[in-house]
Amino acid sequence: MNRRNFSRMLALLAVSPNQSFGNINKKDRIVVIGAGIIGSSIAYHLTKMGAEVTVIERDLPAAHASGKNFGWLHASYPTKPFSFHHLLKLSLLAYQNLETEIDIDIHWGGSFEWSASKENQKILTKEIEIQQGYGVPISMINGKQAHELEPNVEFDEEISIAFSKLDGAVDANEVVKKLLKKTISHGGRVLYPVTYKNIKTKNGKIAAVKTSVGEIEADQVVFACGGDTDELLKIDILNKSKPEIILRTQPMKKIINRVIVHPSFHIHQQKNGVVTIGATNPMADTSVGNLQGAPISHSDRLALMPEVFPDVALEKRHAEMILTIAQQFIPQLEAVKLKDIVIGWIPSTHNGGPVVGHLKNIPGAYIATTNSGVTFAPIIGELVAKEILDRTNINLLEDFRPDHFI
Ligand SMILES: Cc1cc2nc3c(=O)[nH]c(=O)nc-3n(C[C@H](O)[C@H](O)[C@H](O)COP(=O)(O)OP(=O)(O)OC[C@H]3O[C@@H](n4cnc5c(N)ncnc54)[C@H](O)[C@@H]3O)c2cc1C
Repeated sequence: MNRRNFSRMLALLAVSPNQSFGNINKKDRIVVIGAGIIGSSIAYHLTKMGAEVTVIERDLPAAHASGKNFGWLHASYPTKPFSFHHLLKLSLLAYQNLETEIDIDIHWGGSFEWSASKENQKILTKEIEIQQGYGVPISMINGKQAHELEPNVEFDEEISIAFSKLDGAVDANEVVKKLLKKTISHGGRVLYPVTYKNIKTKNGKIAAVKTSVGEIEADQVVFACGGDTDELLKIDILNKSKPEIILRTQPMKKIINRVIVHPSFHIHQQKNGVVTIGATNPMADTSVGNLQGAPISHSDRLALMPEVFPDVALEKRHAEMILTIAQQFIPQLEAVKLKDIVIGWIPSTHNGGPVVGHLKNIPGAYIATTNSGVTFAPIIGELVAKEILDRTNINLLEDFRPDHFI
């Protein structure tokens, strides 16, 4: 599907029982809470369609999951329900639009993924077969074929690798910054640090948003608060977030072309030469000895959901551990100079995907949160903006409504 057909198809997805398409409520004042990648994408699309938008952010744009993630744009999973898989695919197409609209560095080229355990490898192979049935350009290749495509990587010749051709990678920090820059150039406002406190209603409708800096008049409010959604709205749609360590290097010469999802770590390289490496719990169950200021047990360290390490020595040990594993596989990584070492907390929903739609108990309030938010951000931003402004329901989002989970 090309980009023009993609835009036409999005228009057809809308169902407007009472209103014709294009009857846009541009006059509504919309407040978006949260300047992560989801809130930023919604704000961008709303302002592009002509709405009056204010984004408020408690910390900094992309301060949490949206600035501390791996950035893999994946079409390759999951497979159920089909709408989930379909949304992922549409989002990759939407990224092609964004690439030129907001000028972001997307490294297309596909991904390689395999598993260490035989059992998980069987599951992966089965999922690939289902996706092939959907027409996804994905196949199993062996280590030798993979090495021909990635000559700087030492693959075990015997392994079977899922090669998904559509996948890509971004620096989500850059995506958020550019989405917000365009939002502002479309006339929107982005305010931080400003914390959402409550909603003020009048005659059963939203009149304003109460914040740490006073009231902001509003007709509609979008909650795009990632991992804070449950606490803020007193609902239960999220699992406990899990941590992952993300390393980013200084730009270096090109060594890999694809996203590589090795069982112990994952890695990709942007067009600008920056290599991003992610790994889960490389030091789980280890003691940190007598490092000053560091809680001794791993679980104690994690209980407070830190986003940075308690001290430089511990940070260095984590990074060295990840790099040692990665260098055995990609020897040229010995030359890396690290720029960032961060801990990201992965927000995840009970349904494993998006939760998007109006909140029945607060007229004018909309919720948008999801797993794999980097991949989903463009399509969620575009469809949510259409739903809010056209006052329509888009069929494709019906499987992901909050009332299924709240
Ligand atoms: C380590 C890691 C790796 C990941 N890898 C991938 C990947 O490879 N591919 C992929 O697709 N996804 C990945 N993800 C998931 C993805 O990063 C998230 O799904 C996405 O960033 C969520 O975006 P968000 O805007 O919903 O939430 P967030 O980025 O958390 O943004 C929500 C914002 O709301 C703000 N907020 C909260 N409460 C308030 C309040 N009261 N007032 C004002 N503002 C408030 C917060 O400060 C925050 O900035 C990864 C995540 C992590 C952590």
